[in-house]
Amino acid sequence: MSSALPSYEEAAKRVAACAAQLRQYPPSAERAELGQAAGRVLAQPLFADRDQPPFARSTRDGFACRAAEASAHLPLTVIGSTHAGEAPAGLLPPGAAWEIMTGAPVPAGADAVAMLEHVEVQEGRVRLLPHKKLKRGENVVAQGAQAHEGDLLLPAGTSLRPAQIALAAACGCAALDAYLRPRVAILTTGDELVPVESSPAPGQIRNSNGPMLAAMVAAAGGDPWVLPAAADNAQALDAALAQAAEADLLLISGGVSAGKFDLVEPALARAGARFHFTGVRIQPGKPLVFGEMPRRHAGANQNEHGTKYFFGLPGNPVSSAVTFLLFAAPVLAALAGSLESFPRFALARLATETDKHGKPGLTRFLPSHCDFGASANQLPEVALVSSHGSGDLAALARANCFLVVPEEAQQLEPGAIVHILLT
Ligand code: AMP
Ligand code: MG
Repeated sequence: MSSALPSYEEAAKRVAACAAQLRQYPPSAERAELGQAAGRVLAQPLFADRDQPPFARSTRDGFACRAAEASAHLPLTVIGSTHAGEAPAGLLPPGAAWEIMTGAPVPAGADAVAMLEHVEVQEGRVRLLPHKKLKRGENVVAQGAQAHEGDLLLPAGTSLRPAQIALAAACGCAALDAYLRPRVAILTTGDELVPVESSPAPGQIRNSNGPMLAAMVAAAGGDPWVLPAAADNAQALDAALAQAAEADLLLISGGVSAGKFDLVEPALARAGARFHFTGVRIQPGKPLVFGEMPRRHAGANQNEHGTKYFFGLPGNPVSSAVTFLLFAAPVLAALAGSLESFPRFALARLATETDKHGKPGLTRFLPSHCDFGASANQLPEVALVSSHGSGDLAALARANCFLVVPEEAQQLEPGAIVHILLT
């Protein structure tokens, strides 16, 4: 039965193909002040408004001169001084030096800056210390070395992190066009669920997937729209799916296993869903459902593709988290207009043993903790967190990544170089 399900790679390829389709329809954009733009996706190309640097810039405090004239034997006469913020001086005559500070324009004619620590100054004359040399171009960044006026610096689709914000500021952009965040409906299902504000009666649990998925959506650049949890019956699910019609993406949690009260798939079918897959050979998360359904209204993504993707995530918290990262995040990134690729994997060295109880034929994603800060010149070390299965929310909260155990590798030994799924 399970061999009929797609492997992780096959399912990921399917999702990636849908994400690629979505990328043909960029979302609508709005103007965002630079101070509010971090974490958004750039909706315009960013061009250099002038050369960067805009003038030949000294990277040191020292003396600008012609490198060929600098020596320990023949001192050069210091004829002037420029500090950062001052206009460039005129042409430097041969045989002269010009005192200069970091960030100041280097005078025309000078082709290097001898750093302060490498020279000796006496009575208005400067010379290199014995055994010091000065090469042409040393400690000078030529005008336009980083970019020329009009150069494309960032394409639309770039995620705005601190460095991109700084670059936009350097180019004089007080505001930027940013894509609207996709509206992601989050529909949790289950008769056992009560909202976080309520006291659970015997047999009930608090709805933790709603807040978790909302946080994951927000972190991935979406606008979470948390719907009231739906009970496990056809009418409640039909009504909730109708309510979610205006979303750009629909995430449903729970109700996708093979149980008597797992009614999400038939409800989706009644709403006109077309299923891409209804299970993947992974653990946790095997019952994951992915498909698309007709779109009634345009949300942030005002495109005309007329389809809305949905994921039916298994309700166990670890399963929901893993399947979101593996499959929903790439679709969300595409809807957000982002060029970044998800999921994100990294290499690490395994510090612990994996258990021997993995089901054969499933790619496993085990809650783990990776010490990213241990060493700058060695692979980070990853250790499994002790866990009682895919319902163990406490283990999930102790983890900061998931160890990937490939289908064919039933067990991984300590010291092995492994892949981890980043959160
Ligand atoms: P299901 O996928 O509906 O069969 O649910 C699998 C397990 O996840 C059950 O133990 C549920 O109680 C639990 N579960 C389902 N939805 C949630 C939720 N929103 N928050 C916390 N646990 C949930
Ligand atoms: Mg359920």
